[in-house]
Amino acid sequence: MTSTLPSTRLPSPRPFRTHRSLDAITAPLVDLARGSASLIVCEPGRFERDGRIQELPRYLFIGAEGGEKPMRIGIFAGLHGDEPAASFALLRFVRLLEENPEIARGYCLFLYPVCNPTGFVDNTRHNRNGKDLNREFWRNSVQPEVRILQSELWSHAFHGLISLHTDDTSDGLYGYAHGPLLTEHLLRPALAAASRLLPRNQGEVIDGFRARDSIIREGYEGVLRAPPGVRPRPFEIILETPHHTPHYLQEAALTVALSSVLEEYRKFIAHAQNL
Ligand SMILES: [Zn+2]
Repeated sequence: MTSTLPSTRLPSPRPFRTHRSLDAITAPLVDLARGSASLIVCEPGRFERDGRIQELPRYLFIGAEGGEKPMRIGIFAGLHGDEPAASFALLRFVRLLEENPEIARGYCLFLYPVCNPTGFVDNTRHNRNGKDLNREFWRNSVQPEVRILQSELWSHAFHGLISLHTDDTSDGLYGYAHGPLLTEHLLRPALAAASRLLPRNQGEVIDGFRARDSIIREGYEGVLRAPPGVRPRPFEIILETPHHTPHYLQEAALTVALSSVLEEYRKFIAHAQNL
């Protein structure tokens, strides 16, 4: 008997995408920079792997003058290669800045959308050496990506660092607040703004750490942070979206959160200058 079940005629499920090209991020940014007065494509960080030169892309977005010296903020995505929504969120954020340059007034933004280029291409959390790069900082790592980023962290002496991640064990948004107490005051409204798009993780324990109002103060050793001992300490925020929710919502949530952090920090600086 011939089966009449339609299953064989259904389209096969989309294959799990295991490889992607860095161009998916870099080509649109190069395009944007061509027509932009604010976005600059910097020389990428370069290292060799598998007999090929790998590139860790870097961009600058120079906001309009804000009166005082520009505030330098480093924004990092894709340190885990299997979290592409974070990298695409940074691309989306740059598009938003191009349309609304006021968001970046007073800032010089240093953008690193793909901090783990081999992991991004291979769709793996680790880099091609099998290392979780977000456990390697300031531990004498020999991983070239970490050395490149550490050198950026040293040389730019950022006022603030923001890392973007997606978490496949969380069903809601949350964040880590490191550095000065101010950090929590920046993160709180950012999570509130992003929660218009995605739910927050309200757990008392998130990612193995005590959490309050979706904010964790502790953290793993070796995560991307400012160099040990530098003073003043920059604010350090890690934003995490629920990995299994639609990508466009994660990207939108991170974009909204980034805008909020910049707005709140500008208010804080203006207030501090008027004291
Ligand atoms: Zn991650």
